[in-house]
Amino acid sequence: MRRKLVVGNWKMNGNRAANASLLAGIVAGIGAANAANAANASCAVCAPAPYLAQCQETLAGGAVAWGAQDVSAQPGGAFTGEVSAAMLADFSCAYVIVGHSERRAYHGESSELVAKKAVAALDAGMTPIVCVGETLAEREAGQTGAVVSGQLGAVLDLVGERVAQIVVAYEPVWAIGTGKTATPAMAQEVHAQLRAQLMAKNAVAAETVQILYGGSMKPDNALELMAQPDIDGGLIGGAALKASDFLAILHAAN
Ligand code: PEP
Repeated sequence: MRRKLVVGNWKMNGNRAANASLLAGIVAGIGAANAANAANASCAVCAPAPYLAQCQETLAGGAVAWGAQDVSAQPGGAFTGEVSAAMLADFSCAYVIVGHSERRAYHGESSELVAKKAVAALDAGMTPIVCVGETLAEREAGQTGAVVSGQLGAVLDLVGERVAQIVVAYEPVWAIGTGKTATPAMAQEVHAQLRAQLMAKNAVAAETVQILYGGSMKPDNALELMAQPDIDGGLIGGAALKASDFLAILHAAN
């Protein structure tokens, strides 16, 4: 059985004081949960790069992992403003989100670039959380399957035998930050398709790869979504900024 994974994507939110209180709330809530309750799920927060040191200082040695929201595909050098995978690893990041739809839309990131970022993360010992998802226009045009398989396929081509070391996140663009959630059946249909694509690449690995759902996951819909056979957790935006909501989703994952 795959372990559930709940990851908070803080996006460009927070400051030292707000992060301290959010992290303290999460840590206290997890500490209060009994051991059996925490047995089936892991969790992480993906913070803006300047606050990764704060995450490391606050979370090291505990049950909450941390990660980044993007990484450069380049190893280092004259790339002003970029952050390399080695730098993220230097702050003990366990995860890095790659290919979030906001990066694809606002920064023109192609699936080929996303694949290179996933490889950079793997090379530095981190787990890339590879985001895929269709826009509303693509869904309405019946292109969901083709879009997500193209996005995942580019990454699978480049990661080769390391497919077991990635996490996939299905995030329908129309559901992100909108309050509109894919129904559990709609999400499961896409997750099953992604699992089949992983299966075609490596049947053994496909059984272990966690496929998260993201897009307005909240305490009141998390349980039903994560009860689907191929939904292995959540990538949480808005609800990850409130400790009680994040903890409730983590609770649903258990
Ligand atoms: C996200 O940005 O990854 C996300 C899922 O956001 P939200 O939960 O706010 O829809």
